[in-house]
Amino acid sequence: MDTKLLANLLYPNAKDVNYWLEKYPKRELKRGAEVTRLAPSPTGYLHTGHAYSALINKLTARKTGGIFYLRLEDTDQKRLIDNAGDIAYNMLVSYDLSPDEGYRGDELPQVGNYGDYIQSKRLGIYQSFAKYLVEKGKAFPCFCKKTEGLEDVEERRQKQLEETGEIEEHDPCRNLTLDEIKEKLASGEEFALKLKSAGDPNKTIKIVDLIKGEREIRENAKDIVLMKSNGIPPYAFAHAVDDSLMGTTIVVRGEEWYPSLSAHLEVFKALGFKPPKYAHTPVICKLDENGNKRKLSKRKDPEADVRYFIEEGYPKIAVIEYLLNLLNSDFEIWRTNNPTLSYKEFPFSIEKIGSNNPMFDFVKLADISKNYISHLSADEVYRMLAEWANRYDVEFFKTLTENQDFSKAVLNIDRDTPKPRKDISKWSEVKHYYDYMFYGIKNYELDGIDKKKLKEVVRAYMEVYNAEDDKETWFARIKEMASTLGYATDNKAYKQSPENYKGNVADVCTYIRLALTGRKNSPDIYSIAKVLGAREIQRRFENVK
Ligand code: GLU
Repeated sequence: MDTKLLANLLYPNAKDVNYWLEKYPKRELKRGAEVTRLAPSPTGYLHTGHAYSALINKLTARKTGGIFYLRLEDTDQKRLIDNAGDIAYNMLVSYDLSPDEGYRGDELPQVGNYGDYIQSKRLGIYQSFAKYLVEKGKAFPCFCKKTEGLEDVEERRQKQLEETGEIEEHDPCRNLTLDEIKEKLASGEEFALKLKSAGDPNKTIKIVDLIKGEREIRENAKDIVLMKSNGIPPYAFAHAVDDSLMGTTIVVRGEEWYPSLSAHLEVFKALGFKPPKYAHTPVICKLDENGNKRKLSKRKDPEADVRYFIEEGYPKIAVIEYLLNLLNSDFEIWRTNNPTLSYKEFPFSIEKIGSNNPMFDFVKLADISKNYISHLSADEVYRMLAEWANRYDVEFFKTLTENQDFSKAVLNIDRDTPKPRKDISKWSEVKHYYDYMFYGIKNYELDGIDKKKLKEVVRAYMEVYNAEDDKETWFARIKEMASTLGYATDNKAYKQSPENYKGNVADVCTYIRLALTGRKNSPDIYSIAKVLGAREIQRRFENVK
């Protein structure tokens, strides 16, 4: 068959590939520098899995002195969501994962010499490479209705391969003669372009995945779709062309792509491009109500959408550190040994990523976040909290900013100490956590509390309380009063014969705590009292008396 003629028939207007190869010369980078990219499809909001991949990409590029760029894979036009690309870019920026190059949202111009970075704007490029493959006899037009370039045909085949180990025969259209093709084109029939696979499914090829390690995979034998009948390439072809022209050296992507790897490698080979290194990341899972492992689902799990963490008020760095902890299990030890360093100093490595599915765990996220927040200064906490509240809780924002000094003093309670308290994990918790400071006491936690004793203690304490006391004196005064009222100040004695006492000093402190906060548990009561000030304390005591 005269493939050159066929190529001209199919793509009469496509430019020669050399035009693009000259336009996008090889990147000049120092040895070892890696070029990575995030290539989300704007068919949904940025998934937590994307943030996870972006972090790997960003850290790898930074560590090797390379480039991390953002490309929008918007070829699935039917499923596009308005602004999803813009949101994806802005999410990356807000998590300090900004790309060095590429698409930068709908407002800012793209940066870099390898654009356009939006696939739907690159159709001419794909056409050229499609034409090239036809010329080389490596691709053919397919006119079958059932394969009208639809990706789901591929999905069905892939499924079939996984389930039965068998692959459908090669596509019958690969045997059409030039005359038959001409006839179909003349009668206006649409075609999809397919790869004329040269693979043998009984053979295997060795690959090295940066996460999975060395593996043997079956050669591809499927005549996969390269261009749909609407002229748009599916992922397999588009990413092979783009990653080659854009000089990607490592493709980090979800492991759901791993089964199609051999097909992708064949596309690179047909194009004459060296494939990039691949790192297939295990998908983040969680345990469902029945204790079964399943993928994070955008439909069911709010934490699958990166915006959720911002809305809830988890500090961004805490989320990043949580993801790092999922990626490299030695991060936690490193963090303990280096409590004040930025996560950016952590010696991250793709090779250290485990191949098991990481489990999303809110308790762990909260722990990491509490630890992070506990090391912030009151000023920093105030700034981040106010920024969050300004967007998500306007009423609290007003309260918080009305009296900044008071707010900062509240946020400083148990903070400025060698062992700061670790109990705030997200900004949305603060209002409830300190409601007795900002809004007064709405109700008292009184179950199990002897109200008579509570009142007696509060009344007595009002008499001796002195706002000027330092912490030691304050506590000494409480002890003295406790003893006068018949409470044990010596724990041993109390344990031996509790019947001789009304309770112990801890009980007395609980009563004072209740009077000042309405709670049985709270941060350091001395600090709370200091922040409330003598008048307010008096008022709160009066309320109980
Ligand atoms: N558009 C694909 C996705 O969103 C990209 C996969 C890749 O990174 O290569 O899953």
